[in-house]
Amino acid sequence: MTDRERIFLVGFSGTGKSAVGRRVARLLGWDFVDADELIVERAGKPVERIFAEDGEDGFRAVERAVVTELAARERSVASMGGGTMVQNACRSQMLDAGLVVTLDARPETIYARLSSVPQGDSAESMVRPMLSAEGRDPLEVVESLKRERQWAYALAHLSVVTDGLTVEQAAHEVIRAWRRIGAPHTWHGDPLHAATVIVDAGAYPIYVGWDVLETELGKRLSDTGFSGRAFIVSDSNVVNSYGRAAQRSLHRAGIEMGVFTVPPGEASKTLASAAALYDWLAEQRVERRDAIVAVGGGVVGDLAGFVAATYLRGIRLVHVPTSLTAMVDSSIGGKTAVDLPVAKNLVGAFYHPAFVLTDVSALRTLPGRAMREGWAEALKHGLALEAELVDVYESKAEALLAIDPELTTEIVARNAAVKARIVTEDERETSGARSLLNYGHTIGHGLETAARYEGYLHGEAVAVGMVGAARLGMAHGVTPAELVERQAALLRRFGLPTSYAGVGRDAILEAMTRDKKSVAGDVSWVFLEAIGRASLHRRVPPDLVAQVVAELAE
Ligand code: NAD
Repeated sequence: MTDRERIFLVGFSGTGKSAVGRRVARLLGWDFVDADELIVERAGKPVERIFAEDGEDGFRAVERAVVTELAARERSVASMGGGTMVQNACRSQMLDAGLVVTLDARPETIYARLSSVPQGDSAESMVRPMLSAEGRDPLEVVESLKRERQWAYALAHLSVVTDGLTVEQAAHEVIRAWRRIGAPHTWHGDPLHAATVIVDAGAYPIYVGWDVLETELGKRLSDTGFSGRAFIVSDSNVVNSYGRAAQRSLHRAGIEMGVFTVPPGEASKTLASAAALYDWLAEQRVERRDAIVAVGGGVVGDLAGFVAATYLRGIRLVHVPTSLTAMVDSSIGGKTAVDLPVAKNLVGAFYHPAFVLTDVSALRTLPGRAMREGWAEALKHGLALEAELVDVYESKAEALLAIDPELTTEIVARNAAVKARIVTEDERETSGARSLLNYGHTIGHGLETAARYEGYLHGEAVAVGMVGAARLGMAHGVTPAELVERQAALLRRFGLPTSYAGVGRDAILEAMTRDKKSVAGDVSWVFLEAIGRASLHRRVPPDLVAQVVAELAE
């Protein structure tokens, strides 16, 4: 718990900010403030008149003054206008002063709520006349306005998705987060801060930027109050570039360090590599106050994370992911593991880093196939969880494939935020939210295993798996037909396969039933109900599955 007893609820109108805010305030015994009402009070006139007489600039000036006032108010819950988070000054002030929570909801939910609630006097009520503007589909208006603001909402400390929640449930989610972390004021208002993961052990930031490894790593580690030595673990492909940059950064911050290099690739994710690393750490007389800094792709992250979780029963860990898979997926969420000869990731631990520092510019040197594999996971995040991402993938594929610095950094940050949100909701994959990340993985794992991890990279197999899941979802009456082709076109655009060859259908089916996600032989499926909306399904008829898997063969 911190000394900053203040919560700001931000997000689009219609996500329940006022109702949830009032409830949170009542449950905590704090004051509730509706920022729009305070703006009206301070300006001495209704919102429409502020806009009419003083223009948007006039409104934003009063809004800034109100945010300053709220940032000084103790024990308060404030529901903020939908545009407040987009204003840089307001955003940093709120992130500085308290816990900032985005309440999110699907455009359909927002539209339904906005249409049914009476017109009030708020800046957001200005959205409503736009909904009935002639010639425009109101749902599209909500979607596009929400899309424009999403980047700013993603910068909150965390998000609560309110679609299926009652006001009471949403309020409890907010309070649960507050109790666990309070206001994480060590990284507030940080331009690199892309997301926060909140888990039982605490909360940690994910920093995402372009060309930031050398300037930021040492500084960020020092900022955590670190006084030990840092032990970089990397692989021989990246140690000379990013490993060295990490060394320079740590050196500049006055942190002593050592470097341990493993050969690149999955073959390094073994108990033997872990044992070699333990021996080296012991030789270096590593203590609890020291840290392991994993610089590399998912292999290095999983191995170094597992060793950090177990050496001396746990020493500090920092992830510096350099592959796209590691940036959007493996460095976030605390899963660490090594492989056994019988199966991958069989021995591991949940162990979270102190922070993740992602330098997106590292992608410039990532080989094409590894890059495409990372895209599979990033596309999956959009397809299963965030429709707005899919719009960007479709409309700006060329710039993303060319690794445009600004856009790629934004998209990596938004993917990190999606993963962080899901992990925060369901740390240990018990409530179902985290299972949605397994979209495409049921057939994907079957294919990978049947191909003995040789023919298909994980991401490639997941791409084929997503095609299968969409077709199966359609046959099962969940997935709309048009989505199947739209998804396939997107996968192809990012150079991913949509069918398989050289593996037997029965071998894939057999591997699927042995998958760790199947319960008593019943395979669990993630299907898309729409772009950005996934759900879990069991008891899908085996003959339907067999047919779809057969049809996926080239
Ligand atoms: P990887 O670590 O093997 O990296 C792929 C290749 O790219 C390697 O040869 C690596 O040396 C090289 N590389 C990495 N960054 C580079 C860069 N910037 N420039 C040039 N080369 C670079 O594999 P990966 O695809 O990053 O991750 C796959 C691993 O991650 C698997 O072991 C998988 O099980 C694991 N994983 C874990 C999680 C999790 O939640 N822990 C999630 C997904 C995947």
